[in-house]
Amino acid sequence: MSGLTDLYQEVIVDHGQRPRNFHKLKDANLSAEGFNPLCGDRITIYLRLDGNVIKDIGFEGEGCAISKASSSLMTVSLKNKTKTDAKALFQKFHSMVKGEPDNSSHAIDLGKLVVLSGVKEYPVRVKCATLAWHTLLAALEAQKEVVSTE
Ligand code: ZN
Repeated sequence: MSGLTDLYQEVIVDHGQRPRNFHKLKDANLSAEGFNPLCGDRITIYLRLDGNVIKDIGFEGEGCAISKASSSLMTVSLKNKTKTDAKALFQKFHSMVKGEPDNSSHAIDLGKLVVLSGVKEYPVRVKCATLAWHTLLAALEAQKEVVSTE
């Protein structure tokens, strides 16, 4: 068990120190900012949505290792996923980090996101781990408004 925890820890440290997709997207058509006052984490998410598919995703921001690692892992997980997939993945991820029973479909694979499962032992950190996801949803919601004005 501790071997697995060490492995998870390694992945978190790696993504926290060398976050993937840590840049602004020049051709983003959606973005949103998020702030976690409990910890001081700030993030901006950039999305390039093509129809219903997230073709590219990037982020900028400052925050603790957990928020950075979670943002990084999220961007890696969401490329080429549909909006529906992204929301389903967040639901499953949210249950995991909150230590709540998972009622979502078993067909959804959390993949590398499982490395953040240990967060459930630290309730204060749950917001650090979910900030990127809440910000993502805000960005996706904005899309609806854009669509309605076209
Ligand atoms: Zn934090």
